[in-house]
Amino acid sequence: MKKNIVIPCQECEGEGVLADRHPNDPSCQSIECHVCGGEGEEEFLADYNNEQEALEDYPEMLRCE
Ligand SMILES: [Zn+2]
Repeated sequence: MKKNIVIPCQECEGEGVLADRHPNDPSCQSIECHVCGGEGEEEFLADYNNEQEALEDYPEMLRCE
């Protein structure tokens, strides 16, 4: 069964924003994460029978639908 697996965005670690340069740089600004579009989440379809099986592969999973 196809499940929609939702995990925290790897790029921004679920924050939804990224620093546009090194955070120690005083002109550093937060920009919207280009990977998740500011959502802080990534989702993809994977084949699992139930949520427990998905959790074994993705312990950081937020939810599956
Ligand atoms: Zn992101």
